[in-house]
Amino acid sequence: MTGSNKLENGQQTSQFGLETQAIRAGHQRTGEGEHGEPIFTTSSFVFENAKEAAARFSGDQPGNVYSRFTNPTVRAFEQRLCAMESGDYAVATASGMAALLTTGLALLKSGDHVVLSRSLFGSTISLFTGIFSRLGVKSSFVELNDIDSWAESITSHTRLLILETPSNPLLELADISQLAELAHSKGVLLVVDNVLCTPVLQRPLELGADIVIHSATKYLDGQGRCIGGAVVTRCEEHYKDLFNALRTGGAAMSPFNAWVFLKGLETLTLRMRAHCKNAFDIATWLETRPEVSRVYYPGLASHPNHQLAVRQQNDLFGGMVSFEVAGGREGAWRVIDNTQLLSITANLGDTRSTITHPATTTHARLSEDERAAAGITEGLIRVSVGHEDVDDLCTDLLRGLSTPS
Ligand SMILES: *Cc1c(COP(=O)(O)O)cnc(C)c1O
Repeated sequence: MTGSNKLENGQQTSQFGLETQAIRAGHQRTGEGEHGEPIFTTSSFVFENAKEAAARFSGDQPGNVYSRFTNPTVRAFEQRLCAMESGDYAVATASGMAALLTTGLALLKSGDHVVLSRSLFGSTISLFTGIFSRLGVKSSFVELNDIDSWAESITSHTRLLILETPSNPLLELADISQLAELAHSKGVLLVVDNVLCTPVLQRPLELGADIVIHSATKYLDGQGRCIGGAVVTRCEEHYKDLFNALRTGGAAMSPFNAWVFLKGLETLTLRMRAHCKNAFDIATWLETRPEVSRVYYPGLASHPNHQLAVRQQNDLFGGMVSFEVAGGREGAWRVIDNTQLLSITANLGDTRSTITHPATTTHARLSEDERAAAGITEGLIRVSVGHEDVDDLCTDLLRGLSTPS
């Protein structure tokens, strides 16, 4: 069976705006008449009789069998996110990495080739250079916004192009429509990791992407509580392959986590707008500080991809801000160690602002040359801007900035 994962109420919700879908899509009320979504904490489901069991197992009759395959709470999350990403099918996974793993297992075979942006989440790079490479899938890496390199790297064995836009931590953008056009002209699929933007800022399927990847751990939850992920598509064939890889491979989302993410989606638009506003204010303030040599934020007119961000991201620029201070590692660590409010952690997309030194944490495994090529300098600091009072956040950053070396 393939599960009844098609957005059954798609006809009813597709005419609604994103905020309505975020609250109304997905929940199929039970006979109890509950208003909020229930959590179905059950590993398996029972059948009326042996004949029904056989029909469910063979797939002749749609319905639940086992929560590794389908679960009503998980399905509600899948359908809600699916509606928000304007997809037709979604599978929820145990983590963002499980979403990428499941996508690879579903769509790739030995001998295939993938082209990836050099500035991807570190574990995504390891997944392809380590695990998938061992399974016979070759990878090439290109500069995110160098369209010629993408085109030149595609061979007759290439199956997927994989990217994140904006990138992390330097917040460079790629033109999704342009890359989708390139991919399709060569018979290749475009996979976009939409973790940093969420469907509030950017809906890659509407721009021509074939597969959207999420780590629900970040903004979809939004309060740093649960690990989860999802894959969204418009293609039934790809969905069947994804569903099969998930039910067999087993990287399924727990119903409890799905419920937390359902609650997260309800406030996603409000929270994303608040993240963006705070991040914009902090980026603008940082640009005025003499101690800061460079600010990376797509909302600033000084950002090289600002116009693309305006067009592609719904006039919203995200909750991440990176900046460079003088004094290299010592200067950056001074700012980080003098904070009293910001949390020193690499997680992002939380109500709590977090501060990281990429060169010695998220990008520490790269060689010095690789870091230099990627633009990750020793003076670079990344902030995931949360929902605290902006004045308090600026005061907190100023403590280290204004401390003499
Ligand atoms: C965190 C993250 C992932 C991985 O998600 P997990 O839920 O941690 O497995 C993938 N891509 C991006 C852009 C991320 O930030």
